[in-house]
Amino acid sequence: MIYSVAAMTLCHKCKDTSVVSRIRKCVLCVTNVCEKCAVRRYGQKFCSENCAKSFFLNEKGEFDPEN
Ligand SMILES: [Zn+2]
Ligand SMILES: [Zn+2]
Repeated sequence: MIYSVAAMTLCHKCKDTSVVSRIRKCVLCVTNVCEKCAVRRYGQKFCSENCAKSFFLNEKGEFDPEN
């Protein structure tokens, strides 16, 4: 699969490209977020508190996958 490397390694929150080796993907919305900006919850990493909350709501049976 071919992706734009630049787009895949930019933190969505702080736009920091100097931490490319530490970019993570939000497990919910797949937004790129660096280690500094990631929200850690129960061993998962999210781009925001909203995603962290939504993730656990989904686990209760409300998951509604897009596409
Ligand atoms: Zn960041
Ligand atoms: Zn997210």
